[in-house]
Amino acid sequence: MEFDTITAISTPMGEGAIAIVRLSGDEAVAIADRVFAAPAGKKLKDAASHTIHYGHIIDPETNEVAEEVMVSVMRGPKTFTREDVIEINCHGGLVSVNRVLQLVLNSGARMAEPGEFTKRAFMNGRIDLSQAEAVMDLIRAKTDKAMNVALGQMDGRLSKLVRKLRQEILETLAHVEVNIDYPEYDDVEEMTHQMLVEKATYVKTEIEKLLQTSSQGKILREGLSTVIIGRPNVGKSSLLNSLVHENKAIVTDIPGTTRDVIEEYVNVRGVPLKLVDTAGIRETEDIVERIGVERSRQVLKEADLILLVLNYSDELTFEDEQLFEAVKGMDVIIIINKTDLPQAIDMDKVSLLANGRPVVATSLKEEEGIDKLEESIQSLFFKGDIQSGDMTYLSNTRHIALMTQAKRSIEEALNGIDAGMPVDMVQIDLTRAWEQLGEIIGDSVHESLIDQLFSQFCLGK
Ligand code: GDP
Ligand code: ZN
Repeated sequence: MEFDTITAISTPMGEGAIAIVRLSGDEAVAIADRVFAAPAGKKLKDAASHTIHYGHIIDPETNEVAEEVMVSVMRGPKTFTREDVIEINCHGGLVSVNRVLQLVLNSGARMAEPGEFTKRAFMNGRIDLSQAEAVMDLIRAKTDKAMNVALGQMDGRLSKLVRKLRQEILETLAHVEVNIDYPEYDDVEEMTHQMLVEKATYVKTEIEKLLQTSSQGKILREGLSTVIIGRPNVGKSSLLNSLVHENKAIVTDIPGTTRDVIEEYVNVRGVPLKLVDTAGIRETEDIVERIGVERSRQVLKEADLILLVLNYSDELTFEDEQLFEAVKGMDVIIIINKTDLPQAIDMDKVSLLANGRPVVATSLKEEEGIDKLEESIQSLFFKGDIQSGDMTYLSNTRHIALMTQAKRSIEEALNGIDAGMPVDMVQIDLTRAWEQLGEIIGDSVHESLIDQLFSQFCLGK
């Protein structure tokens, strides 16, 4: 495939003092040579692949030095995009990096669109779609655990599993073919029937296992939607503030948080919390008051975690009990706040209402009990056994949807076999499952979907 040469500032993850201007394409080396001056006048076009060179970026029109740099030369196909890649490592600040980029643009490169480097890697067959999506997840990863999931996926763990399942289905389909071609042999039919059930059940079980990881995977990726509720004055704002201040707030570049719900991300021991509607709680002290009964019910319903705050130095009220009623069946942590004040609350009654759900005592004023709360949050969702290092997580919404569809197709195939349907009908269901799994790794994906997926990337990736 042939593409023009693209460029962008692509500062590596972890972000140091160094910024990189990256070029990719047939003309990458030639364009770099136009703006690069090495001490001995050496040209990059004569350099061996995967070597790094010291020199200066100069303005070819004025010969003025713009920046002192190290330039990496990497020739395709052993590069991220499989094209010739140049990386100009700049030491200076933003101004000089932008100047280098401008000079590169003036010398014949085109500004890359968001995600275009990764798109090229995909188009040139270097990575599959699920790996490309992992790059995107990595950019957005909110905690170390989320990053590990993305890294595993980028590494192709999910792709490998999906390929294996597709292979199983393909083999099964081949056997079905045999049955269609030689229907007169009874034992072939017998064997096919049994083998079909066996293989289809195996694939279904594997898909189910993956789907079971999806809720944790999705939480790691998108954050645990968390809502703080409680009567006025119990300490909701104080709780929110200590969660935000005690933990590293996560900077997010994800646009499109809904208009009336404002979200704040914090990392609590590897669990990304998406604190929902915090602005509402802050401004009017009352989520219901601010967004109305219907909307707040909706927010509650969509929450993954409820933090219900009670006042230790106050008796339980009817309103408290109503709150317990409103969050029945949800994941709730009950927080008894203001333990520095004299007790008035009936703890036996709290236990009864809590009904086995975790209860944590805090004095937010004295900064006590926050550790316990964090522990509680962590164990509620990871039960201490999350091993993102060696597990394949399904975390991407698109992947989850396709997996669910594939599972349904397999189930239909199994039902068909059970009902004694003609084998070629079963074949249709299996083929559909095979295609749905294929979409996860980008086989048989529509062009416009690919454009849409890649346009979500950050610039320079
Ligand atoms: P909200 O209405 O539920 O958001 O409650 P706030 O967080 O605004 O707190 C109400 C009042 O209780 C404020 O004056 C806080 O300083 C105070 N407060 C919060 N936590 C504690 C605590 O643990 N102990 C004591 N004594 N006061 C607290
Ligand atoms: Zn408040």
